[in-house]
Amino acid sequence: MDFRNLSRKDLELWALDQGMPAFRGRQLFRWLWRPFFQDFSQVTDFPKALRLKMPGLGTFYSLRTITQEISIDGTRKWAFGLNDGQVVETVLIPGQDHNTICVSTQVGCAMGCKFCYTAQMGYVRDLAPSEMAGQVLRVIELVGPEERPRNIVFMGMGEPLANYDNLLKSLEILLDDMGLNFSSRRITVSTCGLVPKIERLGKDTNVGLAISLHAPDDQVRSKIMPINRRYPLAELIKACKQYHLSPRQRITFEYLLLGGITDRPVHARLLAKLLQGIPAKINLIPFNEIPKIGFKPPGPRDVLAFQEILRDANYTTIIRKSRGNDISAACGQLHASVEEMV
Ligand code: SAH
Repeated sequence: MDFRNLSRKDLELWALDQGMPAFRGRQLFRWLWRPFFQDFSQVTDFPKALRLKMPGLGTFYSLRTITQEISIDGTRKWAFGLNDGQVVETVLIPGQDHNTICVSTQVGCAMGCKFCYTAQMGYVRDLAPSEMAGQVLRVIELVGPEERPRNIVFMGMGEPLANYDNLLKSLEILLDDMGLNFSSRRITVSTCGLVPKIERLGKDTNVGLAISLHAPDDQVRSKIMPINRRYPLAELIKACKQYHLSPRQRITFEYLLLGGITDRPVHARLLAKLLQGIPAKINLIPFNEIPKIGFKPPGPRDVLAFQEILRDANYTTIIRKSRGNDISAACGQLHASVEEMV
């Protein structure tokens, strides 16, 4: 058993189950999520006999750093080795006064979006809660307290809502003030549009929601994102309208600009209409080139024209600067493979 898969509450129950007081579980939880925790002998608030007994009761896994790359823009990308030899990538994006960590939720992805490099790997496996929260812990250890990320985006490899239960458990650990102590306002989960899970996420958590929208009509969207055939735009938009938001919170819509395919003025006007009535902010993402894919990036003037139309319709619209492109750390470019690493 991996103790890092358990929330504070789970560990309290575990302690009771072992015939110990619940606070032992709480004590263990604190230690497990402290940077550089390495050995049960460090749990100094446990009696010595219990410390010695711990390795027989369970274990805890940490991620292994395989490679670290630093972009000219300061973005850092790590490949982390998991317990079974699989590899995931995690990215740290520097901001003006705080960093954002981009966390992976699966090895590979089953969603099959035509423009995404991770999709080309196919689906390998879900990440455990310890492996998702573990990416954050490992990065905190690697960069130190000064550069500790303040924001978490679940926008790395994989579809977070296709790994829902583990995602929720990792959120519990990340949000716990005895765990990694993040604020739910600083966490955003991004999805390609698994409608029933969007509805659940809104009920189960207070985290922010980002939708990889990428096209304003079903015809184009179904062509580039197979998930749209299962959950077409009308259903997706309805789920967004119902998503629980706090007063100043908005849903982020990511919109991929594919040259000639989604970047025309007509698309911008349709998009403005589609999002009417939703507290929205729009992130335009010019297509990042990836191997073996025929799409083209949009022209710079088309990007500005697209933004202009949305701004005229009163949407907060930013053009997402491509970060870490030189180290393949930008949106859609994560693609870990063991062969690549060695
Ligand atoms: N599966 C989730 C989380 C991945 S987030 C989701 O779909 O939201 C990664 C973001 O990068 C998604 O918005 C994805 O659609 C986008 N993306 C994928 N390939 C891209 C590419 N080649 N260029 C730019 N953005 C891309």
